[in-house]
Amino acid sequence: MKKRLLAVDEKTCIGCRACSAVCPVDLIRLSDEDGVRRIDFPGICDEDCQECARACPEEAIDLVFGEVQPEFVLSFDLVPCQRCGAPFVTYGEMDRLGKTIPQELQTDAFGASWITLCPRCRRSVERERAAKTLLVSRRGTRV
Ligand code: SF4
Ligand code: SF4
Repeated sequence: MKKRLLAVDEKTCIGCRACSAVCPVDLIRLSDEDGVRRIDFPGICDEDCQECARACPEEAIDLVFGEVQPEFVLSFDLVPCQRCGAPFVTYGEMDRLGKTIPQELQTDAFGASWITLCPRCRRSVERERAAKTLLVSRRGTRV
C-alpha cells in the first residue's frame, strides 16, 4: 500500500536541524552527542503539514507517495568551537554560514570570528566586551 513518505536527499542535507525544530508532532528527532549530530527521520508521515520541507534551507526534503519505508538516520560530524572546543555546528552549516553571511559581518572589530564560536562563547565574548567598554567609559569620565 502506498503511503506518504519523507524523502531526504542525504547529499544535500547539511544537518541544520530546521526540520526537526518546526515539526509540530516531533517526528524528526535530533541528538548531539560525542561530537556527532544524529537526525532520525520517520520513514512515513501521515500528516500533511509540509513544515519540514518549507523550513529546509537546502530544499532537501520532499513528501512523496510510495511503498512503506523504514525510519532512517543521517549523521554529521560537528565542528568544535574555536574558544571552548565544544562541538556545536555541522561542517555543512558552517560552510553555509560562511557563504551567506557577508564577510565584513563574520569578524568583529577585535578580530573575533563569530561563526566559529558557539552561542555560549559568543554571549560571553559580548559580556566581556560590554564590561570593558563600561570600565573604559567610567575611567574616561573620572576627573
Ligand atoms: S510533514 Fe509535518 S509532521 Fe510530517 S515530518 Fe514534516 S513537519 Fe513533521
Ligand atoms: S532542514 Fe533540510 S538541511 Fe536541515 S537537517 Fe532538515 S533536511 Fe537537512
